[in-house]
Amino acid sequence: MSNRPLVMAAHDLGALFGVLADDGYEVLGPTVHDGAIVIEAITQPSQLPRGWGDAQEPGSYRLVERGDGAYFGFAAPAGTWKRHLFEPRAVLWRSRRDGDGVVFEPGEHVRRRRAFLGIRGCDLAAIAVQDRVFCGSPAKSGSGSPRRSADPVYGAKREGILFIGINCSDPASTCFCTSMGTGPAIGERADLSLTELDPALPDQHRFLVHATTDRGRAIAARMNLAVATDRDLASATAVRDGAIASMGRSMDTEDLPARLREAAEDPRWDDVARRCLSCGNCTMACPTCFCADVSDQPDVAAGVDERVREWASCFQLDHSYLHGGSVRVSTKARYRQWMTHKLSTWWDQFGVSGCVGCGRCITFCPVGIDITEEVRAIRASKSVPLEEGTAETGEKGHSR
Ligand code: SF4
Ligand code: SF4
Repeated sequence: MSNRPLVMAAHDLGALFGVLADDGYEVLGPTVHDGAIVIEAITQPSQLPRGWGDAQEPGSYRLVERGDGAYFGFAAPAGTWKRHLFEPRAVLWRSRRDGDGVVFEPGEHVRRRRAFLGIRGCDLAAIAVQDRVFCGSPAKSGSGSPRRSADPVYGAKREGILFIGINCSDPASTCFCTSMGTGPAIGERADLSLTELDPALPDQHRFLVHATTDRGRAIAARMNLAVATDRDLASATAVRDGAIASMGRSMDTEDLPARLREAAEDPRWDDVARRCLSCGNCTMACPTCFCADVSDQPDVAAGVDERVREWASCFQLDHSYLHGGSVRVSTKARYRQWMTHKLSTWWDQFGVSGCVGCGRCITFCPVGIDITEEVRAIRASKSVPLEEGTAETGEKGHSR
């Protein structure tokens, strides 16, 4: 079979859902819920956000009617795929009273066949980042599973996912994936990558379909798709170029990890601390943030105790609590920790950036703090270098 892309009429999306259902996949994809585009289980194309776009600005998100039939005419969804892999609350294990003894049961290590339909380049990159965090290594491109599953809860959910990506056509004003090298094109990072073409022309509305793995090719082969014409390929190139041209923001990443290390006492941290509410919204919206708390939650009457992992945030005062008190007591220290971890020390820890340029932290910050603007400001200012002997924690020796 030639690897030339194929083309699928938009009205054949239902056939794609049918093939996935026949193969036993639970499909997760974008859908409108409570005035926002989120990721949920869906079973048919009518549940996709057809005709909806989004307007994202610092501190502002709203849906807008596009006036065409686009299924994927929006930017990074408000909801993340993260919550379906690294869930907001997960039971790690459970103990149950059994007569005079106790039995231990594993937590929610559910293995299901799942397809992630409509995932963007930035969010594929975010999953690769979390693979490094939870499993020690990224998966191979496409549906390959992480090589080593250090975290059984994440690993069970992550295993065997079929990725059907969408090349982004309509970035938001808050997006900067081009700067981070994560989008808008997917390249060969999904099993199947789709590009939506001509959604305003009902009789020409179609998808360019590029299968890059055996699983993707097997699915495409069952759909009797036509081979793409030169016109289809040119239209897809125009979609990609248009997305790059309309990217709302940018970030200069040249030498950024070192630049931020030198900026530990930059006065800009005081400036951002005056605006930051320390609410943690940015960390909840971010597809790569992975802070969590673990607690035991007993139900004495039922004789059951659960060890539970729940999302936490480095913006919480008690998140840096060591014996005797919190290490980062000021908002300044907590914002600095968050941003320098994302863009600098994440490289030391995981070998990649902790930011994929999705822009969600900008959109969902209630006071509109913009990570790209903060980087620009720090680059422009004359920083005080890091004091000797303080590099290990990045905190001790600095104002808190
Ligand atoms: S730091 Fe902001 S822009 Fe970067 S990945 Fe997280 S939410 Fe997206
Ligand atoms: S940067 Fe914005 S979203 Fe993040 S903690 Fe501060 S106020 Fe909240």
